[in-house]
Amino acid sequence: MQKIIQDIYEKLFGEFGYQNWWPIVRDGKCYYEAEFRKRKRSREEILEIMIGAVLTQNTSWDNAVKAISGMKKAGFLSLDKLLSIDEDGFSRIIKESGYYMQKSKKIKALSLFLHDELCDDVSALSGYGLDKAREMLLSVWGIGNETADSILLYGYYYPVFVIDAYTRRIFSRIGVEDAYAAYEELQSLVHDSFKPDRIKYQEYHADLVMLGKSICRKEPLCGECFLSFMCCFAKSRTAYAQKRT
Ligand code: SF4
Repeated sequence: MQKIIQDIYEKLFGEFGYQNWWPIVRDGKCYYEAEFRKRKRSREEILEIMIGAVLTQNTSWDNAVKAISGMKKAGFLSLDKLLSIDEDGFSRIIKESGYYMQKSKKIKALSLFLHDELCDDVSALSGYGLDKAREMLLSVWGIGNETADSILLYGYYYPVFVIDAYTRRIFSRIGVEDAYAAYEELQSLVHDSFKPDRIKYQEYHADLVMLGKSICRKEPLCGECFLSFMCCFAKSRTAYAQKRT
């Protein structure tokens, strides 16, 4: 299985190249900058990535961007401000992200964690090491595996791969047997396929998202896909179509 995981990465990266996730939102637009690969994230950027990772739960990234823009316009993207939010009022600002009452509570819980456990120093998780930092984030109400790993990978540059719905869908269609295994099990399969490399994990995840959004959609466009030569789903579709002719 490791060979398939490596081959998918090579093909995706060859086609899409660097995506430079996680973007920073300015004036309603996303900025994906190559310099993100070369320097550490600022405290402001880490906070924005944390909030964005919560806002994009169960919704598209475009909706999360609208909510981040609303927060920025209203001056809510600072820890001081977030600590003082009234959840009802705040939920209206992030309405476009959906599940806004719940997300408002989650963002409040995350803000309290940053205040109580990290003494308001958003960058401090970088000093704990991956395992401890992950354990701490997972202790926050509303932060699950995918959200925690997105924050750790893109905010703190820890080498940890993010498993999301696109990963599972594409892996399973191509023929990765454990595509719907438990989160950590599938994550270990990817980790075991490469030396720890946060840029590779960032780009692999971002490239999978790109493929999942553009080609390997719910209704996949296999005829346009550069992975069709190695994809079980595409091969069985072709075989079925040939049988019918
Ligand atoms: S060939 Fe089809 S099913 Fe396979 S990865 Fe590409 S779009 Fe998805």
